[in-house]
Amino acid sequence: MNRLIDATHDPALRSWVESANAPDSDFPVQNLPLGRFRLAGADEPLRCGVAIGDQVLDLQLALQLSPWPDGVPELLAPLAAGELAAFMALGRPAWKALRAALSAALAEGSDTAPFLELCLLPQAQAAMALPCRVGDYTDFYTGIHHALTVGKLMRPDHPLLPNYKWVPIGYHGRASSVTLGGPVTRPRGQTRSSGDTPHFGPSQRLDYELELGLWVGVGNELGTPVPMAQAEERLFGVTLLNDWSARDLQGWEYQPLGPFLAKNFSTMVSPWIVSFEALAPFRRPFTRPAGDPQPLPYLDSEFNREAGALDIRLEVWLQTARMRELGLPAQRLSHSNALDAYWTPAQLVAHHTSNGCNLATGDLLGTGTLSGPLPAQGGSLLELSAGGRQPLTLPGGETRTFLEDGDTVTLRAFCAAPGAVRIGLGSVSGTVLPA
Ligand code: CA
Repeated sequence: MNRLIDATHDPALRSWVESANAPDSDFPVQNLPLGRFRLAGADEPLRCGVAIGDQVLDLQLALQLSPWPDGVPELLAPLAAGELAAFMALGRPAWKALRAALSAALAEGSDTAPFLELCLLPQAQAAMALPCRVGDYTDFYTGIHHALTVGKLMRPDHPLLPNYKWVPIGYHGRASSVTLGGPVTRPRGQTRSSGDTPHFGPSQRLDYELELGLWVGVGNELGTPVPMAQAEERLFGVTLLNDWSARDLQGWEYQPLGPFLAKNFSTMVSPWIVSFEALAPFRRPFTRPAGDPQPLPYLDSEFNREAGALDIRLEVWLQTARMRELGLPAQRLSHSNALDAYWTPAQLVAHHTSNGCNLATGDLLGTGTLSGPLPAQGGSLLELSAGGRQPLTLPGGETRTFLEDGDTVTLRAFCAAPGAVRIGLGSVSGTVLPA
């Protein structure tokens, strides 16, 4: 694992951008996530930037105004043109080289600071956009505690289906409705209470799912699987992902072909892609509980066993319309950790391509709901309310089983470990609008 660590992770590094040195900043100089933005309110093409503290370093201006070491302007060129996907397609050596250059440029003592100071924009003035056009979107089901809890609601005697510990379960989702945070309109759809005639109307069991999004950088040719040894090299980075879910639509429609309209009305991601390089200090061994089967050889590698898992702390926050009116802050509903995923990112890539399926630059893989082992660590209201039977009480006295109109759900994530500087993924917020 230590071979993933380099000078860019040095905990002693500080930035000349003062806000990046705050202990609770998501974006210290050790992080350097990339995203796309334009000046808020401006009618201009998108450009790419790096989040640093509470600022964005505009890479179009940075290419124009600042000197860079040999080879770096070529790496910055697609980013200056607003084409993050073109940079994502370049592969890990290019990603590492740019990270090293940005780290040096933004670190305290950088001799290009006087140029780059002119290229900063407060994040509050940046209107973020999706990092790229989302190609295909696949959602997995790696959260074993989520799978167990949801399985128990339906099958108390055998909550996990026999395939769960052998096959990374997933389905093909819908890319067109992947957005950044903002409004989500309560979906209408067909539902049926047991024994009744189906009914069409607004979903009464609207929910969120706390997930990570994995962004594919380098794709593979159709018919050419990606082996485990190369699988993680294909992944550019990670964002938060909220897989909005209409449980009542899902319950009626999902058999026999799986999720459809219960899921495809909205998926939200956070705007800054945190690279796998930035996550290096937060890699952990992939382990299996005693008695569980070890993965088949095509899902196993030395690297995966050594450091395949991600130690990312995840949180869900809720603020209702009434809480906003009363001036009450958002309430944290749950917290969990990506270490509870049953499969690693590399295993998801290796499995997805194992039949020859081709992934492409800009494809998005959802991890599935990442719940912790305790009831209060559920990554969805379905879990926290025990299928709608145990309402949660909120500040101000309201209760919730599922989401109501005006509710704002915010997902947050960060990494913290001894000997490393805390980095964050930022957040994604969505507010429920009436049907
Ligand atoms: Ca999901």
